Amino acid sequence: MSFESLGLAEPLLKAIAEAGYTIPTPIQAQAIPAVLSGGDLLAGAQTGTGKTAGFTLPLLHKLAINQAPQGAKRHIRALILTPTRELAAQVEESVRTYGKYLPLRSMVMFGGVGMKPQIDALRRGIDILVATPGRLLDHHQQGTLDLSHVEFFVLDEADRMLDMGFVHDIKRVLAIVPAKKQSLLFSATFSDEIKTLADKLLNAPQVIEVARRNATADKISQKIHPVDRDQKKELLTHLIKSHNWHQVLVFTRMKHGANRLVEYLEKQDITAMAIHGNKSQSARTRALAEFKSGALQVLVATDIAARGIDIDQLPHVINYELPNVAEDYVHRIGRTGRAGAEGEAISLVCVDEEGFLADIEKLIKRPIEREVVQGFEPDPNAKAEPILLGRRTLHGAPSGGGRGGSNTGGRPGGGGGGGGGRAAPRNNGSPRAGDSRGNGDKRGGGGGGNRGAAPAARDRTR
Ligand code: AMP
Repeated sequence: MSFESLGLAEPLLKAIAEAGYTIPTPIQAQAIPAVLSGGDLLAGAQTGTGKTAGFTLPLLHKLAINQAPQGAKRHIRALILTPTRELAAQVEESVRTYGKYLPLRSMVMFGGVGMKPQIDALRRGIDILVATPGRLLDHHQQGTLDLSHVEFFVLDEADRMLDMGFVHDIKRVLAIVPAKKQSLLFSATFSDEIKTLADKLLNAPQVIEVARRNATADKISQKIHPVDRDQKKELLTHLIKSHNWHQVLVFTRMKHGANRLVEYLEKQDITAMAIHGNKSQSARTRALAEFKSGALQVLVATDIAARGIDIDQLPHVINYELPNVAEDYVHRIGRTGRAGAEGEAISLVCVDEEGFLADIEKLIKRPIEREVVQGFEPDPNAKAEPILLGRRTLHGAPSGGGRGGSNTGGRPGGGGGGGGGRAAPRNNGSPRAGDSRGNGDKRGGGGGGNRGAAPAARDRTR
């Protein structure tokens, strides 16, 4: 199948060709005709599948073929909501890339930066708005945003939005956009919550789903290096230097862990920056740009911060610490081997994390190869210690019941016991609108210091 056969307008085909795409990805092959046909869409696809072009291309096509006459006032006709600032920026960049030969104007809107330039841009008139929910609602409240002409509404990474506590904000946005519109919902997972949201938002949607490409992860070589907890830094340095790696994405569980690791790597003459919720937007954007350009060797990220990162064919992803939520492992390693390229995902695992590892192997339904690195052999007698996550303590080590990662509810040394519990609840906090959010999309001004504190418990810990 070719992009031409999908019936997209010539200016789009030209931009696609310039982007180097020759054939549509599976999600594009399904989503593009579905959106062009005019109905609502529920799409199961995660980052890395080409989903952004899957909705952006047909939206641009439809906006272009049905455009207001030249000189007429522009109205926001397409609204795309994303959970994170990075993703919003990326999606809007895609809109610009694919729409470069169309006379359409787009804008990205998120919190943590001044309102004034956004208000000015809105006044000048735009056709496509890509936004995170909090700042969008701020503008609405202040009367600086008119959504009454929205014809197309996209919820991107809806599952992440719910995880991050945006459910109330989404409902508020739904209440201010016209009832008659074409709606698209993209989500990596179809939980009951997503189905409920889809029922509310979508009208007799076409449902499409592409395989979770990382569930099999056959393009990604995965490896575990067992190592003592206090040897991880040295092992990471050794791996980077001995293989002469550039562009390594390293994951830590928590923000301060990311900062400490960056400090250490810099002392070892490895250029590194951290990207997490406590960093200002400009620091995050700079880190990402330097990393993408190859100027920065290592980017250290927490899960939420990394969610929106789109870097093609990233050769190496290192789990410096395993995530306490097994699904995050799949998201993390999805950063490598993207768009058909080979990738390598390496996890440095200490005795404390064996339970997390068991959860991950259960989720991906296969064991991951272990390889001890010479000179970094773990102490066979090392005892597992509880893992501190903010105010909570998790037992990442396998406990009595065999299944690891029982949540002891914050009782250090609390025994682990029964083994029935998950390593950590994916979301055990009841999301509250108005809380500060993981991406600084804080309403009511400022976007100040505490941007990492999200309502979901797992986000609070970062
Ligand atoms: P996404 O899943 O939208 O984040 O896209 C993942 C990556 O795949 C992006 O960097 C896109 O530039 C790239 N991509 C999207 N569509 C195609 C395509 N048809 N052929 C090759 N690469 C693509």
